[in-house]
Amino acid sequence: MRRKTPTVWVGRVPVGGGHPIAVQSMTNTPTADIPATVAQILELHRAGSEIVRLTVNDEEAAKAVPEIRRRLLEAGAEVPLVGDFHFNGHLLLRKYPEMAQALDKLRINPGTMGRGSHKDENFREMVRIAKDLGKPIRIGANWGSLDPALLTELMDQNARRPEPKSAEEVVLEALVESAVRSYEAALALGLPEDKIVLSAKVSKPKDLLWTYRELAKRTRAPLHLGLTEAGMGVKGIVASAAALAPLLLEGIGDTIRVSLTPAPGEPRTKEVEVAQEILQALGLRTFAPEVTSCPGCGRTTSTFFQELALEVNRHLRAKLPEWRRKYPGVEGLKVAVMGCVVNGPGESKHAHIGISLPGAGEEPKAPVYADGKLLTILKGERIAEEFIALVEDYVEKHFGGMQ
Ligand code: SF4
Repeated sequence: MRRKTPTVWVGRVPVGGGHPIAVQSMTNTPTADIPATVAQILELHRAGSEIVRLTVNDEEAAKAVPEIRRRLLEAGAEVPLVGDFHFNGHLLLRKYPEMAQALDKLRINPGTMGRGSHKDENFREMVRIAKDLGKPIRIGANWGSLDPALLTELMDQNARRPEPKSAEEVVLEALVESAVRSYEAALALGLPEDKIVLSAKVSKPKDLLWTYRELAKRTRAPLHLGLTEAGMGVKGIVASAAALAPLLLEGIGDTIRVSLTPAPGEPRTKEVEVAQEILQALGLRTFAPEVTSCPGCGRTTSTFFQELALEVNRHLRAKLPEWRRKYPGVEGLKVAVMGCVVNGPGESKHAHIGISLPGAGEEPKAPVYADGKLLTILKGERIAEEFIALVEDYVEKHFGGMQ
């Protein structure tokens, strides 16, 4: 069951309060480069990012934000924008009120608010600004930028314990403490609880579990969930899924971001795709039709089976934007492409529509099941085209009447 939290509205997107877990991402273009930043936000948004964060690191970036917002609206994209602030956020927000207005949420990192008494005053100023603007904030602690004064305080306390904890454990405690203390300070300054989202990111899945379970115990705030610096490629994807899945299944997490390092030339939208896949695999949201395919084994006679699975996946992905407009609910379509009749018919029967190709030594025919019943048997050279046509037909008949 989802943990109960207030709803925080980030522009038009609700976060928490039992609303669907929102997918978000962050740009990696220099914010001051308006055309590049607008293009990337549009790309991320079209890929399914429901909230996009961008860094507001200097005066040039701050000046660019209102124009970025204007161009996005001109392109018909009402995507909520989050400004990521460190060190000088309070100064930029006061100096550029149009930038502050153009943002839907402010991200504050308690570890990068300055040092000593400045740190507390800068934090208070950021909260006052958010309050004046009526905008929500995310208090986003990160173990890479932990407040050294707080860490020293907790290390000293730990040294006085009869059985001191390890340094790693104290770092995690300090991270949670930093997020919780900042959350309580923001409430004490008069920011309502439906204006605060909380996060405390680390880069190891096991540490993330402990950290977020603590946050969930100690606050009512909606939680932004993500493994920071997850890494590249398969490693980053697996680490993110391993970290996020247990928490999401426990009902912890109201918005997620997958922080992948893109390989050169890899699209930034990969992180959006992975976030959607994680939520869909856990049965928490449905974004796109699903193709179930077996891994293949010695019973598959050729690469035809892999080619068909690939072709069906490509076809569904290419058709999805059009189908979404014409066939509401089509995201829930389930297609099976199986390599032989061992598990093929059974798996096909569980899908809306599915095909089992002939395995080695089997008759050269491919039974197609729709809604659990044998629909037809395909044979010959054109099995791929004919099966895709059957899928098209199924979609039109079963999702077309819902308009
Ligand atoms: S369904 Fe058939 S081809 Fe696919 S893995 Fe199972 S036995 Fe092998």
